[in-house]
Amino acid sequence: MKTVLAGGVVVTCDDEHTVFNPGDVVLDDDIVCYVGPSYQGEYDTRLYVGGKLVMPGLINAHTHSGMSIFRSLADDVDLMVFLRDRVWPREVKLTADDVYAGSLLSGIEMLRAGITTYVDMYFLEEELARAAVDVGLRALITPAILGVPVWAPILGSLERQIERSFDFCRRWEGRHGRIHTGLGPHSPYTVPLEFLAELAHQAQEEHLPVNIHLLETKQERDSYDFSGRGIVVTLEDIGFFDGPVISAHSVWLSEGDYEIYARNRVGVAHCPQSNAKLGCGLAPVVEMLANGIAVGLGTDSACTNNNLDLWEEMRLAPLLAKLCALDPTPLPATQALWLATRLGGQAVHLPDIGVLREGFRADLIVLNLADTVAVPVFSPETYLAHLVYAFSARQVDAVWVNGSQVVRGGEVLTVDVEAARCAAQAAALSLTERMAG
Ligand SMILES: [Zn+2]
Repeated sequence: MKTVLAGGVVVTCDDEHTVFNPGDVVLDDDIVCYVGPSYQGEYDTRLYVGGKLVMPGLINAHTHSGMSIFRSLADDVDLMVFLRDRVWPREVKLTADDVYAGSLLSGIEMLRAGITTYVDMYFLEEELARAAVDVGLRALITPAILGVPVWAPILGSLERQIERSFDFCRRWEGRHGRIHTGLGPHSPYTVPLEFLAELAHQAQEEHLPVNIHLLETKQERDSYDFSGRGIVVTLEDIGFFDGPVISAHSVWLSEGDYEIYARNRVGVAHCPQSNAKLGCGLAPVVEMLANGIAVGLGTDSACTNNNLDLWEEMRLAPLLAKLCALDPTPLPATQALWLATRLGGQAVHLPDIGVLREGFRADLIVLNLADTVAVPVFSPETYLAHLVYAFSARQVDAVWVNGSQVVRGGEVLTVDVEAARCAAQAAALSLTERMAG
């Protein structure tokens, strides 16, 4: 079925930053089949979107959706205190219902912020997948694998976790045209190298991406001891990068690491707000981009952010890059917009999302321009700057994922939002009671 979104400002996020004003976008079921000036072909439905802006849905390259029920429970502490004292003791008591409730809450929040794809790493992965299916988002779900003693009674041995993860991937990959799967070894400091090598090789055989936290803190970098070789060099040596890898954070890369990332097409999930809140440092985004590395943006969890609003990351990434460089020219608006869209798609190894172009997935958002922050407009290109420096999730009016409309008039159409909010609140309180007991 062909649906025309007609007469809007169309921001394509293509190679030339093309903006059609006015322009039409035509969806043929789950695929975009036309983007350009006035569409003259046949169609089934025509929606007039004059006074609105149409663009690719945003891509959240890194989050842990189940953690929204821990929001604001572990603030103002460093990463190790965050994990070992605040989060892990709670997580080991999570039930499947808790994870579904948290994941659904996150999904609603992301949809309302115009996110159409997210990369998830968490436990009880069946619940993550169910929540993604129910809320209507595209998700790359990577079951978390963690070799930490406190987790052993819950998750079982690392061998068992790896086996279970591949089983999950085989059962869920491709479902509904919008569930994608991969492996989620938490980090090199929680999963020993021999297991990282083994799971990476198996993932490569099964054409699955691997999603890992890497070099998030200076302490992490200093903790590795591989005879003077860095962790990135060591991971390349064991073949970890021979298949698609998404590296979250990558704050503390060394000079030679850029070439290794570029050579192996490692995608990076840059999480500026989480990194700032945990005092981790600023990832070298400008250097990574200059070296041809695909960098996307991630909110990280609602526990280190504390929301899942990627508009904030899209603005913060260039602001921090400029602040750190004492120079306003690095990471201009057009490039920041790409981080949240086309480069995000490349970073998470889903190359047919993030651009409004014929043949790409029908994942797009419509923004309301009847807003003070959308004035003035001097040329179509003004919108590219507005999107990064002036707009926010407030403008999100409608969302399509895989050709299905899931948000209309700012309201989520797929699930009962109030029921989901209550369920998440109840899950958070019940978990707190179980902790006390
Ligand atoms: Zn994370």
